[in-house]
Amino acid sequence: MHILRTLQGAGHAAWVVGGSLRDTLREARVDDWDLTTSARPEQTQALFDDAVYENAFGTVAVRTGDPSVGEVEVTTLRSDHDYADFRRPHHVEFTDSIELDLARRDVTVNAMAWGGRPDEAPTLIDPHDGMVDLEAGILRAVGDPRRRFDEDALRMLRVVRLAATLGFDIEPGTLAGIQSRADNVRHLSGERIAAELSKMLAAPIPSVALRLLADLGLLAPISPELAAQRGVPQNKVPGEDLWDHTLRAVDGAATEPSYIRLAALLHDIGKPKTMAEGRFLGHDAVGAEIADDLLDRLRWRRDERDRIVSLVRHHMYGYVPDWSDAAVRRFIAKVGPEVLPDLFLLREADNLGSGRPHHAGDLDEIRGRVRRELDAGVVLDRRGLAIDGDDLQRELEIPPGPRLGTILDALLDRVIADPVVNTRGTLLAIARGLARAVEP
Ligand code: ATP
Ligand code: MG
Repeated sequence: MHILRTLQGAGHAAWVVGGSLRDTLREARVDDWDLTTSARPEQTQALFDDAVYENAFGTVAVRTGDPSVGEVEVTTLRSDHDYADFRRPHHVEFTDSIELDLARRDVTVNAMAWGGRPDEAPTLIDPHDGMVDLEAGILRAVGDPRRRFDEDALRMLRVVRLAATLGFDIEPGTLAGIQSRADNVRHLSGERIAAELSKMLAAPIPSVALRLLADLGLLAPISPELAAQRGVPQNKVPGEDLWDHTLRAVDGAATEPSYIRLAALLHDIGKPKTMAEGRFLGHDAVGAEIADDLLDRLRWRRDERDRIVSLVRHHMYGYVPDWSDAAVRRFIAKVGPEVLPDLFLLREADNLGSGRPHHAGDLDEIRGRVRRELDAGVVLDRRGLAIDGDDLQRELEIPPGPRLGTILDALLDRVIADPVVNTRGTLLAIARGLARAVEP
């Protein structure tokens, strides 16, 4: 209201628009506020102490200093022009017409405005009957769906995402429009797809969006390997295929950390390619590579990408209670202690996806055993050994070179198998024997 009034006080028309108005009208929490105004970006910027004109699209970000509001995006009224290659418009044209600005928006519930000119009382402007659709819970493209999706293919992903986050239905004409234009998604940049995908995965029931993606033909242009899960048989939940299993796993996955749901989506991505005689040999390693390529295409955050690939790579570990303590330590060293908590979360999701949550007992046990090893200061790499390469050179007169590394690795194996040997005297004695065995 403060920003709206400031703009109007300076003689400009201003409205609340987009998702913030939609969410206010349906009495939901608003995450980010969008305003539109007749003021040009430089004029908007000059009205506020803390405002940045950040891009070529006429948007000024105003920092409110109120943490519950954050940054408010104030965009100059515009009409879009020159759509090409199914992406965002190549240039924008400023306008004084709120109607033109609303007409370029994606769905009717996002194409309303509340506010007005300085001398008017605020009103709701709703030329596309967004309020009717909001009350009925319907997502309907503004204008001719095919044309709008040809202009910008991202709108199809936005519709699917909103269906999941709002719990709305997609109007049949809009649905048909998506089906006929789905393939255009292959022209979108990885970043834009990724932004929608992460919102889909954060929805209360992410499978709502994922199922729509697959059924409408939007998934194949994003990941042919995931789309190929449809129809692959699984002996898990009777009557369900691999895609059903994946979706159950995603729905069952923890919401924190946020990338666990993505890991669940990708955990069996290697299965269609490795399927032979009802088995999927090596699907974890193959899946890790496919996942890495996909996340690279999507320009996914590097740290999460590495973590997710590692989770896909290791998700097949087969813990049984008679694993020795040494086996537990080898497992920790192989997977890496920082990945393990996430790997267990992924297994929880995988178990739910397989209709066998009763495996929770084994999961509690391996979690406990890992924690005990970590608390006991388990040695996982060469740095934890009681001696180092310098000691070997000095005491055993082994010259620097690859042989040193071989011996240190062998010592590490011995310490992981039996931590008691990790003392200087014992390790030097073992190293002497190894040095004789590993002749230069
Ligand atoms: P949320 O902020 O909850 O993710 P939103 O609908 O507010 O959803 P934003 O990306 O913040 O989405 O966009 C704000 C508004 O801009 C939308 O409500 C819509 O009116 C318009 N909009 C955004 N992207 C597009 C697009 N690709 N095509 C047409 N209009 C769009
Ligand atoms: Mg928004």
